[in-house]
Amino acid sequence: MPLNKDQVLKQYFGYDTFRPQQAEIIDTVLRGEDCLVLMPTGGGKSVCYQVPAMVQDGLTVVISPLIALMKDQVEALRANGIEAAYLNSSLSSSEQDSVFWKAKLGELKLLYVAPERLFSGNTMEHFKNWNVKLFAVDEAHCISSWGHDFRPEYRQLSTLKSHFPGVPVVALTATADRVTRRDILGQLGVAESAQTFIASFDRPNLSLSVLPSRKRLPQIEQFLKKHPNQAGIIYCLSRKTTETVAASLQNRDFRADFYHAGLPAAQRSKVQEQFLNDDIQIIVATIAFGMGIDKSNVRWVIHYNLPPNVESFYQEIGRSGRDGSPADTVLFYGYQDIVMRQDMINNSDQSTEQKELLRAKLDRMKQYAEADLCRRRILLSYFNEAVEQDCGNCDVCQNPRTRFDGTLLAQKALSGIARSGERVAMGMLMDILRGSRNRALLDRGYDRLPTFGVGRDLRGDEWSEYLSQMLNSGVMDIAYDEGHAFKLNANSWQILKEGKKIELVKFIPLSERKAREEALMPKEKPKQEIIRDALFEQLRLLRKQMADALNVPPYVIFSDKTISEMAQKRPVSEAQMLDVSGVGDEKYRRYGEAFVTEIVKFAKKNTKPGTRVVKGMTYLVTHELYQQGFTIDDMAQQRGLSSSTVVSHLVKLRDEGHDIKLRSLISDRHYDEILAAADELNYKSGDPVAPIFEHLGERIEYGMIRLALALREGA
Ligand code: ADP
Ligand code: ZN
Repeated sequence: MPLNKDQVLKQYFGYDTFRPQQAEIIDTVLRGEDCLVLMPTGGGKSVCYQVPAMVQDGLTVVISPLIALMKDQVEALRANGIEAAYLNSSLSSSEQDSVFWKAKLGELKLLYVAPERLFSGNTMEHFKNWNVKLFAVDEAHCISSWGHDFRPEYRQLSTLKSHFPGVPVVALTATADRVTRRDILGQLGVAESAQTFIASFDRPNLSLSVLPSRKRLPQIEQFLKKHPNQAGIIYCLSRKTTETVAASLQNRDFRADFYHAGLPAAQRSKVQEQFLNDDIQIIVATIAFGMGIDKSNVRWVIHYNLPPNVESFYQEIGRSGRDGSPADTVLFYGYQDIVMRQDMINNSDQSTEQKELLRAKLDRMKQYAEADLCRRRILLSYFNEAVEQDCGNCDVCQNPRTRFDGTLLAQKALSGIARSGERVAMGMLMDILRGSRNRALLDRGYDRLPTFGVGRDLRGDEWSEYLSQMLNSGVMDIAYDEGHAFKLNANSWQILKEGKKIELVKFIPLSERKAREEALMPKEKPKQEIIRDALFEQLRLLRKQMADALNVPPYVIFSDKTISEMAQKRPVSEAQMLDVSGVGDEKYRRYGEAFVTEIVKFAKKNTKPGTRVVKGMTYLVTHELYQQGFTIDDMAQQRGLSSSTVVSHLVKLRDEGHDIKLRSLISDRHYDEILAAADELNYKSGDPVAPIFEHLGERIEYGMIRLALALREGA
């Protein structure tokens, strides 16, 4: 009997329900129809073709540009009990032969292949003999030159439909813009009428915040203190920056390393692997890192520099929190970022039309960074999603903005610019306003300007923030080609001479910003939580040891979300374990017992005789002792419990499905004696057992009597 899609989801992936759209997409694919799937990174695209692969017979071919990732994807499928393989340039010819054979013999359900590999040699002819039932084109935007990651080798996929007219194609991407969307279908030779599924781009578990880009390192350090041992990525614009930032973090004893396209391939894959395996906590990287990084327990992403557009930004922060557990994202932002990005566009060799497009996209990014209303609403509006409510999980929601009349501050700044002959940039202007007597300033005689020191009442970070805001709202201009000197414009003169009003948004220093943790969590963790967190750590360590031994990344074993649910529910039987989201049949078979043992071990350590630190734990300790072969009396003594209590534990454990051989805990002689006494006294279930105890001359423990009676009933 083939399984249906719900059974496949539960049995192979351990999940109870589909996420929005997944079920509809799967049904469409199973009807043999082409479709286009738009889902944010981490939204759950893979399930959309992996489940159909297991529901129908034949082979599902997954076309993906992410060669480096194929091995892990295949590993992850195998860990779920799914036969999968990949074909790419990293395979030896004998490895490749073995894949070909398996495919031919129908032993594979999923085959990952790089596009260039698909069209090389006579691969295509082989495919025609392999009962291919579905093509999944992952990262489908790579086929469009409108997309932000065009790959020429993807263009060949346009012939797929003519080679396999009857086989449905599902194209998947996290790119939202309309032009790219339409182009994808056209390029793939799929009818424009094919269904397009657009899942919500909301990722509510990602917190969003923007911080001023002055003094980034100390801010990062402060951030890291709140995220001890949590894996994260810091994205930088230049290779050089990745190296210096990584070095600073290493100096501060963080397990950090850098990654960019200028490194030798061997070093790149080593760093990537160490990160996937949780050996490195922090990766400082250019965007060369992460295309398809599938590590589900990335807990935060920091943008050291401003990304060029919202798509890239969303894709990059989307690499955190893929397991659905909370993750934090930070964007550092200052006016220099916009300058730098504009320069990059101006100096690129793109067409005028393309440059316009890039500028418009940069502008949307700027709007996000400067938002003073809920950032998630701004982000989602970019993806054409209207959101009715503020999210509560962004820095603006948590620190609502207050506006004030900033005219006087603007006048001070503008006067400083005017008096110094419109030759100063941000840093010098701040020094003038704040009255710093530094060498460069004194050399130019700026200390004699009437504006010198008129802004002493504000700190440096406040001025920096307000000057950025002024610049962004057109209070003055900036001359990129004159060392970024500030210039007055018509608006400036109106403010200076005519007192035109301008508003600024009140600056809140980092130290005063309401931290998410503080806002959401009570001051002291309740005991239950302390225990849960400690167990989580222990399970995380076990996962790491197993992963190292098996030479796979830890998340291939279980996701953070799954072990966090284990720490919460403390499953100790097969049924309870299979109830945890992310534990399917195969995972239970492979890892279930080890995790149960660890939970029991933990329980034992955290339960002292006579105390009941955690409800439910006491059974586990009994279970542990039972497994070590103790008798009922020994168990009772060790635990300071009565033998009856121990027996009641064992009976309960057995009823929950544990393998407890109750009969072997009692000798035949005692068993017979007790049952004989019960018969003589005409004992019925629920009667007090004291008469039996007395009848047997008080020789046999109550626990044993209860056990024998339970056995008699159970038989
Ligand atoms: P992407 O869209 O980026 O390819 P993935 O397919 O890797 O996302 O899915 C992201 C995470 O969500 C994975 O850990 C996956 O196992 C999990 N996931 C997918 N579908 C479900 C579901 N229906 N229930 C619970 N978790 C799911
Ligand atoms: Zn918000």
